[in-house]
Amino acid sequence: MRLVMASANAHKAIEIAEILTDHDIEQRPTGMGEVVESEETLEGNARLKAEAVCAATGTPAVADDTGLEVDALGGLPGVRSARFAGDSATDEENLVKLLNELRKVPDSDRTARFRTVAMVVFPDGDAVSADGVVEGVIAVQPSGSGGFGYDSVFVPNEGGGLTFAEMEPERKNIISHRGRAFRLLATMLAD
Ligand code: IMP
Repeated sequence: MRLVMASANAHKAIEIAEILTDHDIEQRPTGMGEVVESEETLEGNARLKAEAVCAATGTPAVADDTGLEVDALGGLPGVRSARFAGDSATDEENLVKLLNELRKVPDSDRTARFRTVAMVVFPDGDAVSADGVVEGVIAVQPSGSGGFGYDSVFVPNEGGGLTFAEMEPERKNIISHRGRAFRLLATMLAD
């Protein structure tokens, strides 16, 4: 199936293309503006992004929305993960805010999870979506130079103590929220 990538994030686009290998993935049209993520749920924002790109191209579009849920912050930043430090915050600013908010939180209470909703929207309005979750903890300081976003402070429970940013991309894809969501989505599309 031909699918257009709705994500403008190059890191994400690479991770998604590595999983949806049975499909012909096209890049997001250049020049298309950012979609404002105005919904209150990951599913709502994934749908907004996929619908916008599907409407602009007439081709089924694939999108995801991801949130980092930190237990000591009552589940924040969650759906606001991209805008945690402000509407136009950089990944670095979001990371600094997260570590600052957790600076007095002991190791045992730094539990968190990444959650992804992956979705394909079709020109006739149909949609297919799948969730993926990975449990872990937030490190006290960043480690590793790979990945993006909060990768350098997220230590997945199944990762042998490494942050996502310290892992090979293939290893991250096997256990990550996005890997899980998109493998399930791929199975649903095949069905
Ligand atoms: P969005 O899904 O692009 O809206 O991403 C929400 C926020 O989570 C952004 O700040 C991203 O940088 C961050 N993020 C999304 N996916 C990942 C990931 O796989 N690792 C680390 N951070 C991520």
